[in-house]
Amino acid sequence: MSKSLQAIRGMNDILPEQTPLWRYFEGTVAGLLDNYGYRQIRMPIVEFTELFKRSIGEVTDIVEKEMYTFEDRNGDSLTLRPEGTAACVRAALEHGITGGGQVQKLWYMGPMFRHERPQKGRYRQFHQIGLEVFNLEGPDIDAELIILTWRLWAALGIRDAVTLELNSLGTSESRGRYREALVEFLTARLDQLDEDSQRRLKTNPLRVLDTKDANTQAALVGAPQLADYLDDDSRTHFEGLKARLDAVGIPYVINPKLVRGLDYYSKTVFEWVTDKLGSQGTVCAGGRYDGLVEQMGGKPTPGVGFAMGIERLILLLETLDKVPESIARQVDVYLCAFGEAAELAGLALSERLRDALPSLRLQVNAGAGSFKSQFKKADKSGALYALILGDDEMAAQTVGVKPLRGQGEQQNIAWDALAEHLATHVAQG
Ligand code: ATP
Ligand code: MG
Repeated sequence: MSKSLQAIRGMNDILPEQTPLWRYFEGTVAGLLDNYGYRQIRMPIVEFTELFKRSIGEVTDIVEKEMYTFEDRNGDSLTLRPEGTAACVRAALEHGITGGGQVQKLWYMGPMFRHERPQKGRYRQFHQIGLEVFNLEGPDIDAELIILTWRLWAALGIRDAVTLELNSLGTSESRGRYREALVEFLTARLDQLDEDSQRRLKTNPLRVLDTKDANTQAALVGAPQLADYLDDDSRTHFEGLKARLDAVGIPYVINPKLVRGLDYYSKTVFEWVTDKLGSQGTVCAGGRYDGLVEQMGGKPTPGVGFAMGIERLILLLETLDKVPESIARQVDVYLCAFGEAAELAGLALSERLRDALPSLRLQVNAGAGSFKSQFKKADKSGALYALILGDDEMAAQTVGVKPLRGQGEQQNIAWDALAEHLATHVAQG
């Protein structure tokens, strides 16, 4: 195929074979969030570039090198959203829904865009489900966010495969004091740092902590610890969070090097990681961002949230063989009709079945065809039963109900009894 007719590298089609798993995943999350009282918000996927620069921070990986930015026909600089928090805060402010201390528990879902090197678990268009909570400042809500993801992992059958990593970044003041100490420590070891870290030391020194470079990691041994610089408020907050996780029995690992890539975090940060997906192991990440709303021009408004990467979680379900069998079947029954009169009767009968059994997945053969060809299509559809309407059935006002997955012999069922027959048999199949 010519190059212009291919999808952009790192941007994937999700084919019909895969969408049932996506819908199962998204449906499971949506149901759970309903249970916990979160409400969905939908934002545009394009925003003014300025929004991301101001919220995410100029010297982050995302803003420095990952954004899809372009000029529109008015000459405005626009960017495909690389994440959801900025737009969610923008929308909340624009519509005044967090004003006067109103609590908002919001979630969103959709595509995000980052110009990264595509590889397993890392794409240029990927999908997130994100949560943001506004105007609750205590550790109880941080705990709730973690607890509900814990429940989600159980619902999906992947709880044993993920580990919770936690850290506290303190307030911007205490982090500032820590930053000075870290910079002093690392400046004395400047020649041991890789090039990237030398640059980060000037722009975003905490990011040096999560370096992958072995020499830099060695240079970090004995570096000042963020935990020793925490202010009392942040320390109490962190203890409160841990006490709640302990109360529910959620295990966690404190990772003092967990600083997250975005500038706007404060106090709690966390990641759910797995060792089953190679180096793209973080499936869900988030934290508290009490300063962000003010930084974006609003009144001081505590906030906390996280985002999970749908592709990585889908990969994890597949890797661990946790794709439920029930989602594989798309069709329950397939109706084959032979001849025009049978086709018309079949159509009317199908609509009656749909009235009687609203959840029945009934596919009606289209394009006529011989007995053999219709039967082949019925089998290929994955249906449990073929419904057969030919001359004999028409005369007797019955339908042949033929099991396609080896569950017994064909039965002839009267039209009036068909819905009831299918109700019991399809449910069992
Ligand atoms: P990473 O360190 O893997 O680059 P990140 O810190 O940039 O992740 P966040 O901005 O916190 O990621 O996004 C939250 C989640 O979204 C990640 O934990 C991951 O599951 C998913 N995610 C982020 N970037 C990508 C991507 N390019 N492709 C697929 N999923 C992604
Ligand atoms: Mg990243």
